[in-house]
Amino acid sequence: MQENIIIAANQAAAQSPSAWQRQLSHAIRDPAALCERLGLGQAWLSGAHAGHQLFEICVPEAYLARIVPNDPNDPLLLQVLPTGDETDVTPGYVTDPLEEADHRPIKGLIHKYANRVLLIASPACAINCRYCFRRHFPYSENSPSRTQWQEALDYLRADTSIHEAILSGGDPLAASDRQLAWLVEQLESIPHLKRLRIHTRLPVVIPDRVDEALLDWLSSTRLQKVVVLHINHANEIDQAVVDACTRLKQAGVTLLNQSVLLRGINDSVPALAALSERLFEAGVLPYYLHVFDPVKGAAHFDVSDAEAKTLVNELLAHLPGFLMPRLVREVPGKNSKTPL
Ligand SMILES: *Cc1c(COP(=O)(O)O)cnc(C)c1O
Ligand code: SF4
Repeated sequence: MQENIIIAANQAAAQSPSAWQRQLSHAIRDPAALCERLGLGQAWLSGAHAGHQLFEICVPEAYLARIVPNDPNDPLLLQVLPTGDETDVTPGYVTDPLEEADHRPIKGLIHKYANRVLLIASPACAINCRYCFRRHFPYSENSPSRTQWQEALDYLRADTSIHEAILSGGDPLAASDRQLAWLVEQLESIPHLKRLRIHTRLPVVIPDRVDEALLDWLSSTRLQKVVVLHINHANEIDQAVVDACTRLKQAGVTLLNQSVLLRGINDSVPALAALSERLFEAGVLPYYLHVFDPVKGAAHFDVSDAEAKTLVNELLAHLPGFLMPRLVREVPGKNSKTPL
């Protein structure tokens, strides 16, 4: 009987995907279509094809709408359009720059830092960012089934020093609300867990992701909630994103943002200052500014440490202290992010 109900619910879900799921299934995944929509000529196509072979293109319409057409230097375009540079082989740029493969005691779980554990809640993303340090991540090997989730949950239950579960991915909000509600219910039954943190780009890429079904499980959990968004440029924050952030705040969520410092996208004082200002208008505080991880195929985005430090020192003169992100790097083997 119980089973029948679940099957019926599954069928209902399969028949009527949410608005955000429909938007995701209609995302642009073809180099020619992307170039055509944005008025980019033949010159861009071969690079787009070459990069697409290595890490497929994925851009939903809601994000595409924020890209200015006919501008090959648009800071949002550069985050999603592959170029021939991706085929370059640069010494020191590797497939697992953070050496995460060494820190997975259990499938789908990464425990590197004290008191908090990262759970790979969904292998999928709603957008494929060209600079992503997980572009080579073996998600198919790390996306747990329900039985494997039990192992991860047992690990959390057994270690009373863990106070925070961080849902990561991919993008954890690419999972269905049914799966997420189940997972959060399991997590909140662990007495020593205090906080639920979600690292996601989905509310930015498809603001409709922040819908009733999501707000339902999110607002009803006893855990304190933090959502760390991933936004690199002020142009990513349109009114729909502001509205999504407002809905999250109304559900009792603390909103933070992490960015990656990217050559040609946000490597200037005006761009970083505008990002912080715009984030705050949306009710979001800057958290981290990551220096780029040396991931294979993305060396053209790298900004040197010396440049990064100069930029951040100049930025201090343009922003109140609470709008300054912390410039950090992830160093394999360290027990926290490392400030520069
Ligand atoms: C970045 C990261 C965290 C979170 O670190 P904070 O400094 O608390 O934001 C936790 N676990 C892993 C494996 C991470 O990479
Ligand atoms: S959303 Fe995050 S994990 Fe997914 S491709 Fe972009 S940077 Fe990588």
